Amino acid sequence: MNLHDVLNRAIENNRKWCSKGNVATYIPELSKANPCALGVSLCTWDGKIITAGDCDTPFTLQSISKICSLILALQDNGREKVFSKVGMEPTGDPFNSIVKLETLEPSPPLNPMINAGAIAVTSLIKGSDVDERLERLLTLIRAMADNNQIDVDWEVYTSERETGNRNRAMAYFLKDIGIIDGQVEEALDLYFKQCAIKITCQDLARMGLTLATQGIGPCGEIIIDPAIAKLAKTFMVTCGMYNASGEFAIRVGIPAKSGVSGSILAAVPHRMGIGVIGPSLDKKGNSIAGVHLLEELSREMKLSIF
Ligand code: GLU
Repeated sequence: MNLHDVLNRAIENNRKWCSKGNVATYIPELSKANPCALGVSLCTWDGKIITAGDCDTPFTLQSISKICSLILALQDNGREKVFSKVGMEPTGDPFNSIVKLETLEPSPPLNPMINAGAIAVTSLIKGSDVDERLERLLTLIRAMADNNQIDVDWEVYTSERETGNRNRAMAYFLKDIGIIDGQVEEALDLYFKQCAIKITCQDLARMGLTLATQGIGPCGEIIIDPAIAKLAKTFMVTCGMYNASGEFAIRVGIPAKSGVSGSILAAVPHRMGIGVIGPSLDKKGNSIAGVHLLEELSREMKLSIF
């Protein structure tokens, strides 16, 4: 099987879906993305990168960063502390939903992949100030992607900070009920910055491979504790594709995490990492063409873990 051909065909077959969705607009800077773009990169077990489509288009990590902040928070605090602040269950609600924070008892956010849970997790990252915490997060992401150039897109960060009122509301609520211990504004600032980290499909594919190898980076060094890499992939299966995670598990069957930039990080255990960009989103916030493309790749290359 020629992987170049498989990827090129998948781009050709699925580009039509781009016109069926919409680019995210609630973060104004994201509305500038090209709705017709579709790109994919695959990083094979031996570290080889194969790309097709618009894979040089840079974009921001958005919710995909939640995987990285979870890894760092677990490394810093251990499981017991992290899971005293956030649960392990899928919600069935949209990623930015606020409703269960007050109606459920006990009250911690249901999982680290929804915004409330992710902000709680981000507040656990250690460092003397936001700059140091961000630098630690960037160090992890750069190592996973084997790319020292990765940095924050400051325009997207500013856009998000200026409009992120729903996230701000959730964070203050979490402070009120004792889930966030430190400074709320610092947790929010780091959260907005992590969401605005700029990458490409190639970076995502290498990050996916790092998770697929249970934490061994592109250069062969151990970057993530294997138990934490396993846990991150498990959350990707149960909650990684918003409230479409069940359908995605059936249609595609690969641990994956999406972001509202239209990006998807996928990790096929013991085989490969995949990065996808397609800014046009379906109703649940996943890249509409990206999900169809992954469905085709999964079928063609028999990638489902189930
Ligand atoms: N920065 C986005 C937000 O907090 C992330 C959401 C996402 O990608 O799902 O709204």
